Amino acid sequence: MTEIRDTVILGSGCAGLTAALYTARAGMKPLVLEGHEPGGQLSITTLVENFPGWPEGIQGPELIENMKKQAARFGATYEHALVSHVDAAAHPIRLHTSIGEIHTRTLIVASGASARWLGLPSEQALIGHGVSSCATCDGFFFRDKEIAVVGGGDSAMEEAIFLSRFASKVTLLHRRDAFRASKIMLERAVAHPKIEFRSNTVVEEVLGVDEKEVNGLLLRDVRTGERTVLPVSALFLGIGHVPNTKMLAGEIDLDDEGYIKTTNNVFTARGGVIVPGVFACGDVQDRRYRQAITAAGSGCMAALEVEKYLEERGR
Ligand code: NAP
Repeated sequence: MTEIRDTVILGSGCAGLTAALYTARAGMKPLVLEGHEPGGQLSITTLVENFPGWPEGIQGPELIENMKKQAARFGATYEHALVSHVDAAAHPIRLHTSIGEIHTRTLIVASGASARWLGLPSEQALIGHGVSSCATCDGFFFRDKEIAVVGGGDSAMEEAIFLSRFASKVTLLHRRDAFRASKIMLERAVAHPKIEFRSNTVVEEVLGVDEKEVNGLLLRDVRTGERTVLPVSALFLGIGHVPNTKMLAGEIDLDDEGYIKTTNNVFTARGGVIVPGVFACGDVQDRRYRQAITAAGSGCMAALEVEKYLEERGR
């Protein structure tokens, strides 16, 4: 018979690993399933300077590795597994994964949100070397440099405004000339003396792959087809995030962009009714803050709810 676990954590980013630490210390022997981006978004950043407790900052991958070890010390275990579907209403909850079916009394969904990328090979090659999707993480490294931001929504405006604190100039590139951004954010960015807009423009290539450092962008004007090179030291993507919730489609309530709808931060629902034993934390249910520390905080909350849930059922 398949073993029934007390808790399984889906995702090994900051939220999942904090949930692992708490549930492990509560004696639940959590199994953490590491998906297609083990370690989550922190594992693709460089220096993290806004996680309390590290006065000199800490490298994202090192922070994640520390969290992993810390939870393992209390009994958390890790498996690399891709989850294709979750039967959230089943008792026990059933996970269909690349390493077989897993049964659990409780599930903590901490599968995160992945930054949307343009998908260019040169962009992918330079992530962490001038290409970034996180202005608050990496903006500081481009003090007095010229940089570019792609996107036409609030994220791009927010990034451009934030980055203008450091950069000598920010060029905002958008593929159309109509913007999704709210009026106030757009106006703020347009009025900013350091931000220059280039609409109807797409990035065809990020330059600097051989040098392992961004040194420019090959741009194309979509109306005229004209190609130009924009010399910049960094490219920030502000084209949205995609929550990793495919495996939960139809099982729990998601918003129109696929984020898990939670109440009291971590409770999930189906048709507005709480799904027993299924909790969510971190960026998969947070389109607003998306910080490592807020993810860790909600991971802790989810773990405490799991503990309470199992206790109430005599475990
Ligand atoms: P968004 O509103 O969906 O905007 C994404 C932008 O990226 C769009 O302009 C889109 O272009 C562009 N884009 C998408 N894929 C692209 C591609 N492959 N190549 C080039 N451009 C691409 O996403 P968001 O800005 O992340 O905002 C998401 C939600 O969070 C919104 O509801 C927003 O209001 C909210 N938010 C609020 C704040 C705030 O109030 N402070 C800050 C950030 C986010 P098209 O327009 O051509 O589709």
